[in-house]
Amino acid sequence: MISVDHIRNAGVVGCGGAGFPTHIKAASRVDIALANGAECEPLLHKDQELMRREPDAVVSGLQMLQALTGSGQAIVGVKLKHQERIAGLVEYVTRAALGLHWLGDFYPTGDEYILVYEATKRLIPPQGIPLDVGVIVNNVETLRNIHNASKNIPVTTKYITVAGAVKNPSTFVVPVGTSFADVINAAGGPTVSSFAVFVSGIMMGKFVQETDLPVTKTCAGIVVLPMDHHLVQRRLRDDHAMHRIGRSACDQCSYCTELCPRYLLGYDVQPHKVMRGLAFTAAGEDLWNQWAQLCCACGLCTLYACPEDLYPKEACDKAKRDMRAKNVAWEGVRDVKLHPMYDGRHVPLGQLIRKLGVEEYNVPAPFRDAAVTPRRIRLPLAQHIGSPAEAVVSKGDRVRAGDLVGEIPKGKTGARIHASISGKVISVDSEITIEQ
Ligand code: SF4
Ligand code: SF4
Repeated sequence: MISVDHIRNAGVVGCGGAGFPTHIKAASRVDIALANGAECEPLLHKDQELMRREPDAVVSGLQMLQALTGSGQAIVGVKLKHQERIAGLVEYVTRAALGLHWLGDFYPTGDEYILVYEATKRLIPPQGIPLDVGVIVNNVETLRNIHNASKNIPVTTKYITVAGAVKNPSTFVVPVGTSFADVINAAGGPTVSSFAVFVSGIMMGKFVQETDLPVTKTCAGIVVLPMDHHLVQRRLRDDHAMHRIGRSACDQCSYCTELCPRYLLGYDVQPHKVMRGLAFTAAGEDLWNQWAQLCCACGLCTLYACPEDLYPKEACDKAKRDMRAKNVAWEGVRDVKLHPMYDGRHVPLGQLIRKLGVEEYNVPAPFRDAAVTPRRIRLPLAQHIGSPAEAVVSKGDRVRAGDLVGEIPKGKTGARIHASISGKVISVDSEITIEQ
């Protein structure tokens, strides 16, 4: 029988987002436990592969969470287009008499606000979380990790897709802490000499140019794109240049708002007004910045909607940062009413992929077993929301895969970290490096 302590001890964090410690969520009382198998980031397929390979673990993890939170209902949200590929999961779900919600193939179905609405017809209050409407949402990989936690198996591995300009786009299970360089090599290496990397996806992921960074518990995959790809060139522009261009070129057509998924769901997000704010003095800015606060940074306005190729998402990021820095509270509209065009304005994933110019990389990334065995791994002590873990090992110590190496600081919110390979601790600072 699983307990919240099992989940805490195993270092389980949300795999689909910022890494919220799962033991805290699991200690709440809700009426619906929802599995997020939507996986809507273009080119990433790791959740699909996981649901295909470990359907029993996903269903078992969801049932455990259902028991812990007292949920009367458990629902798995997955895309209808994956029906055949995940037939095994469907069978387990049916046998366990859980709910199945088939999602359309649009972006961003994996956004918690959208998923909760699609699967339950409940609208999360502005600035709220699923718990506010009695729902707990977990990515399918987090559920697999909960299942493992019940057997005292800590989180030491990660499903990731390696996609884009690599010889053999693939999905792997790798030790947490493996370098991007190792996983790119496992996918046959890059097909171009000069490239950049989108970590956890093109739309919502981080953009980096180094490959010695480690795969963390929250990394969904990496997308390699050539340096001369327009998405890379766009990301190389600094914030100042983005906003300067936006100030002079935005014609206030409002397409960014009209296609914003959060706006269509009924929230008062209006990126075109945030863009208008770029032209105003600091005094006026606070007013315009309000329309950014409920933005989920999905990137659709910037990478799909804007006909001028401007940066409304980045303007929203800046507005949110400015509000935080000035301690300005959000005072927007609290009523949420679905926009009449919500169903009619979904952006199909295929259309988004065409607009992004990544069609040539839109190929299967099948699972390949035991292809990645790193000699050295790096475990950041902060790879979750909350306080960084405190190292409980020192340089020179020998550890075995699964050993505890980072503990939650006393009285703080955080997550434990475990060695993902056996070997010797080479260094301990903001991260722990282990070498075989
Ligand atoms: S879609 Fe582009 S041009 Fe139109 S209002 Fe938004 S940022 Fe301005
Ligand atoms: S990034 Fe743009 S489209 Fe996405 S929620 Fe924010 S404002 Fe809306």
